[in-house]
Amino acid sequence: MIALIDADSFFASCELSRNPHLRGKPVMVLGRIGSFILAKTHEAKQYGVNTVMPYWEAKQKCPQGIFIEGDFRFYTQVSRRLMKILKNWSPLVQVSSIDEAYMDLTGIDKMRDQSFESIGDAIREDVWQQLGITVTVGIAPNKVLAKMACEQKKPNGTALLLKPQIPHFLSQIEVGDIPGIGRGRQLAVKRYGIHWAKELSELPMSIIKNLFGRNGILLWKELHGEYMFKVDGSAHTPKQIGRTSSLEKPTSNLKIIEGLAFYHLERSIESLHRHKLAVGDVNLYLRDRDFKRLYLTHSFSKPTDDFFKLARQLQKLIWKIPPGRWWRSAGILFTGLSSANSRQLNLFEDISSVISEEKLNQAKDELNKRYGQFALSSASHLFYEKRKKKSDELRLGLI
Ligand SMILES: [Mg+2]
Repeated sequence: MIALIDADSFFASCELSRNPHLRGKPVMVLGRIGSFILAKTHEAKQYGVNTVMPYWEAKQKCPQGIFIEGDFRFYTQVSRRLMKILKNWSPLVQVSSIDEAYMDLTGIDKMRDQSFESIGDAIREDVWQQLGITVTVGIAPNKVLAKMACEQKKPNGTALLLKPQIPHFLSQIEVGDIPGIGRGRQLAVKRYGIHWAKELSELPMSIIKNLFGRNGILLWKELHGEYMFKVDGSAHTPKQIGRTSSLEKPTSNLKIIEGLAFYHLERSIESLHRHKLAVGDVNLYLRDRDFKRLYLTHSFSKPTDDFFKLARQLQKLIWKIPPGRWWRSAGILFTGLSSANSRQLNLFEDISSVISEEKLNQAKDELNKRYGQFALSSASHLFYEKRKKKSDELRLGLI
């Protein structure tokens, strides 16, 4: 049995854990420069605020909302502690994103003499006691079903899906909600008159192969309860890092595309930092309403993991998007990855400035370790703190 543990509105939960007086209030976490909503509490959602919504729109929908600039260093710390807790529950844990991990629970029920459902509840309680954040647990015979089950019980729930329950479960889930299918591919299967996951699982394997290729067959087998995608506990280095998603309907508004691209950039940079990698090329890729692709690339003269450098180049790529086309999806892909620790100096770069910059960073980290998290921080951050004191909110756009 495989469990997916997924933290609920992770960035927002992290903020609530260190500011408990914000609990029960509409809290939204914004990207650092994108000025788009990255996470929101349940209360903010009730005002109609969505992830990737621009700040001004969220402000309009929820004027009394509390807007907080994302503090990714803190979220990474919480994430590490979360994963440590999970490793006490199973020896086989695969961290799949900053707030998600798969665990192999096979045999744990017998070892603990506890049902899977109560194990799921106990994991949630353990995380809540130690970190003050809520997670949702999905338990099923494989990863795909665990993820789908988990989706159904958000927030703060435990979902258990046993093999005999699978057909009924799939009959209530839309094809687009199967992980790896998404809205884009949902349109492709609509031609076969397929709407529900159960209908997809009943298609012959040959059609699945034509539609989705070899990985589609693995996915199809998982929908039948087989265990195909293994939980991989080894911390391997990815060859590329990226994220993409489709919009609900195509748009020619580049502000919306920008929001989506920056959302994926923020999340991709988290992975980058988690793996301690630097980026050689940043790619922006888009698909228009006729499924035609557009790739835009920037290659760095030396690999970087710096948020602002990546964000600046992404902004330039966005300016290159030809106007007037209607886009249905946008994604970010980092390629040419290398270890962030072995950054090579550019021949033409002033070495002394690089070294002093690194020394400054080290000194900053040490001071903050000794005197508290923000003992020494950048002027832009101070500016933010000052503003925050005044009004508890921030208009972003520091670049
Ligand atoms: Mg989550």
